[in-house]
Amino acid sequence: MKVWQKIYLVAFIISVVFVNLGIYAVFHLTYQKSIKTEETSGQTSYHMLEQIVENNFSALESRQNLNEDTINELMQMYEKEYSKQSFELLLWKNGKKIYPENESKADKEDYILTEDDIIATQIYGKRWNKSFRAVGKVKGLEDDYRLCMKYPLKGLNDTWKKLHKIYLMISIAMMAVMAVLLNLFLHIFLRPLEYLDKQANEIREGNYQSRVDIKGKDEIAGLGESLNTMAEKIQQNIEELQNENEKKEELIENLAHEMKSPLTSIYGYAEFLQKAPITEDKAQEFYQIIMDESKRLQDMAYALMDLAELRGHKIDMEEFRVKSFVDKQRHIVDKKYVESDGAPDSIRAKDRKVTWVDKTGENDNIYGNSQLISILTLNLISNASRAVQEREDGTVKVEIEKIENGNIKLSISDNGIGIPKEKLNRITEPFYRVDKGRSRSQGGNGLGLALCKRIVELHNAKMNIISREGEGTTVEVEFWRIK
Ligand code: ATP
Ligand code: MG
Repeated sequence: MKVWQKIYLVAFIISVVFVNLGIYAVFHLTYQKSIKTEETSGQTSYHMLEQIVENNFSALESRQNLNEDTINELMQMYEKEYSKQSFELLLWKNGKKIYPENESKADKEDYILTEDDIIATQIYGKRWNKSFRAVGKVKGLEDDYRLCMKYPLKGLNDTWKKLHKIYLMISIAMMAVMAVLLNLFLHIFLRPLEYLDKQANEIREGNYQSRVDIKGKDEIAGLGESLNTMAEKIQQNIEELQNENEKKEELIENLAHEMKSPLTSIYGYAEFLQKAPITEDKAQEFYQIIMDESKRLQDMAYALMDLAELRGHKIDMEEFRVKSFVDKQRHIVDKKYVESDGAPDSIRAKDRKVTWVDKTGENDNIYGNSQLISILTLNLISNASRAVQEREDGTVKVEIEKIENGNIKLSISDNGIGIPKEKLNRITEPFYRVDKGRSRSQGGNGLGLALCKRIVELHNAKMNIISREGEGTTVEVEFWRIK
């Protein structure tokens, strides 16, 4: 059974029961009141009649003329008088019925009804067939005369029979109207629920673009909104997963592609060295090429390992002094001019100056992992150095300052080749390089910025790359000063 059918049935039954109970209660009370009124008016009539009977009988008695004949005559006269109301009179003398002459079971009942001096009145009979009856003692006489007056309540019976029919008709009409109206309103109110069910089914079938459009502020509209949010979240998650998957596939493809050329070179030169008769000088040159290509593969492997290691890992964070951190980086970069010290190879132009501008105070701190921030700084300096490699007046500037909100901003800027606007949003993707050939010749694998991006994310920091093609690039990273 559908929800609307259940509500319909329950609401219909409840309203039918209560409406009918209400009408019946009013009907019943009014009927009882009418009966009471009839009884009172019957009592009055009986009193009047009893008074007349008493007077007439007393008069006859005083003239010693009160016998069965005179009584019969009088009684018939009274009945004639009240013939319109269909009065029926009964009379007992000392417990024996003397009028009318025939005796029936009902007559006995009529007599039993009364006691001395008490007028007994009663409305009796079946529904819509009620009669009034009053029995009492005729006072002031020697003998014990009991008078009974009874008549059918024709007016009351007819009126209420009609009213009962009307009541039934009204009740049936109201039920029919209620059934139609209930059906109509339930459909209007519950239509959104059916619609919601349909949309939910669509979403269940996998159509996550499907949205519910229900206006209003009731629970159904709220449910629709929740369903929309849910569908949106699912869609987002699916898209994210798809994106992630695509990225992974792309990474593997790129990796295979990147590995292909150094491996081909290594194999080719090794084979050459083994099979071809070459001079010692040439052999040295080939060994160098093999070493360089191997080094490239090694760098790539390390960089990928770093990336993988940082994936989803929680890193150790602490507050550390900016000043000593900057000094250390400076030392690494400067030393790199002389000997290899773990800094990227690209920072090697002896005559190129990396200018350091440290505007932080002695007590300024960064909250983070100093080792990772060092990797980031050196990668950015390496990129900047590569970008200015072909410019005579190329300079790289590293600036560290405490900004208004108290955080530490690290900016690395160069006046190198810059990055085309349309490629800016892709340079943090693994293996992406603006100019593949150029980067390769400079020893780049296109993994540095991907690593930087991951480090920035792990620090909940912000990285902003501003660049103009042919003019230079500035990379700004804002780190938190405290937790
Ligand atoms: P790796 O960092 O792995 O040695 P890479 O430097 O080529 O190689 P990324 O650091 O990821 O790779 O940089 C991606 C690309 O973005 C670079 O190849 C280069 O084309 C461009 N790029 C990065 N920084 C700069 C910069 N300061 N100026 C101009 N281009 C840049
Ligand atoms: Mg780089």
